[in-house]
Amino acid sequence: MKIINPATEEVIQEIPEDDANTLHSKYQKLKHGQQAWQLVAVAIRAKMLEKFAELLGDQIEYLSSVLTSEVGKPLQQSRNEINGARTRIKWLADNAEKYLKSELMTQEGNLEESIGYEPLGIICNISAWNYPWLVGVNVFVSALLAGNAVMYKPSEFSSLTGLEIEKLLIQSGVPSSVFQVAIGGAEVGKVLLSLPFDGYFFTGSYRTGKFIYEQCASRMVPCQLEMGGKDPLYVAGDILDIPQVAAATADGAFYNNGQSCCSVERIYVQESVYDEYLSAFLKELSTWKIGPPTQAGVYFGPLTRKEQLNVLEKQVKDALTKGARLMTGGKRMTGKGYYFEPTVLVDVNHDMDLMKEESFGPIIGIMKVKDDEEAIRYMADTDYGLTAAVYTRDRNRAEKILTQLNTGTAYWNCCDRVSAPLPWSGRNHSGFGVTLSHAGLQAFVKPKAWHLRG
Ligand code: NAD
Repeated sequence: MKIINPATEEVIQEIPEDDANTLHSKYQKLKHGQQAWQLVAVAIRAKMLEKFAELLGDQIEYLSSVLTSEVGKPLQQSRNEINGARTRIKWLADNAEKYLKSELMTQEGNLEESIGYEPLGIICNISAWNYPWLVGVNVFVSALLAGNAVMYKPSEFSSLTGLEIEKLLIQSGVPSSVFQVAIGGAEVGKVLLSLPFDGYFFTGSYRTGKFIYEQCASRMVPCQLEMGGKDPLYVAGDILDIPQVAAATADGAFYNNGQSCCSVERIYVQESVYDEYLSAFLKELSTWKIGPPTQAGVYFGPLTRKEQLNVLEKQVKDALTKGARLMTGGKRMTGKGYYFEPTVLVDVNHDMDLMKEESFGPIIGIMKVKDDEEAIRYMADTDYGLTAAVYTRDRNRAEKILTQLNTGTAYWNCCDRVSAPLPWSGRNHSGFGVTLSHAGLQAFVKPKAWHLRG
């Protein structure tokens, strides 16, 4: 399999891809390893994962350069991602014992009732490329802490990072018989779906997630899906510092080139501040540098996947045909690399794909709204349900709006953020199930009810 650098379009490396035979023997290895792993104390497993986090810190420059070379994100954003992963690992490792230990529920006379937590067994994690460290850690770290063995399939666009993850986990003391990496794309994914795993944990697009869920339906094992989003953000007319809000929300839309599951994908602005907000937004954007992701100070590198350039061009064309106005950007850049100009469209409406379909790129539609009621109506007009954000001075106003939206995450005066102590989960086409928080640790165990009469 060829690994392409999206900034130069050059082949970085060629690596062997898995096939049905290699996947089967990796599965067998995990089947043997898991039995012993579940007997290892949670505290010992946690120590190994703490060591893993430490190694990420020691090798951050090298690991960031590997990540940037295959996905094209600016080096500083690669460093941020790895540091973010370390914070998450630390929280999960620190809290694993607390949330995975058995709970005594009743003690009456000679009757004891308690809940024990047993690992699911061997789980399959099919993952995405946009934040391979973060979305990977969400699943495989929690799964390992809970005593499972893991087959981790990185996206074919972040395979080198997947192999680094494997190397460092082994160096941290995690036995290779409980963590295996499957290299390849959709075909390898499909083979994994035919193996008898005890649970499937997927991060990726709605289309693939739906396919995976359908394939797993008859298997009677847990299948958890973290999928896409079309996350809305509302700027209410009472905000005070318009340039600051414009800068923060532009970052929410464009960080990682807009390739985040929780990127701000559409913005609604109350009419009283619309003009001022829009000009502050465009001003902020004009200061952000586009260029090679290895160059210091660059905010926009190339997109990771070449095909996404077509998706973005189609959305722009569709919006313009239906009456949108282009404020900046709008097309791919000439020369080598999958670069797309940061793009802002106004006079947009919900007949346009731009406001309904996930863009997953540096492109945003900004729409003027009359009041909260109208904002809520538009924000709710989506099949997705990952996050929603409201910027206002008034916390009650924000909570009132956010309560009416069917999303797994609600942001007041912030956006595009994930925190380890809080559950990360979607609704509707954004998926279901949960990672992170106590609920995300417990997603990898089965409760057993103990009725003990002495
Ligand atoms: P994708 O669906 O194309 O691929 C995801 C994974 O599925 C890859 O490993 C891929 O090889 C595998 N795959 C593809 N077809 C398959 C098949 N038929 N059978 C089995 N496996 C198959 O998604 P992507 O492009 O890697 O990631 C981008 C998407 O992921 C976006 O929609 C984004 O919003 C979403 N995402 C969601 C979250 C979240 O937490 N909700 C986090 C990150 C990304």
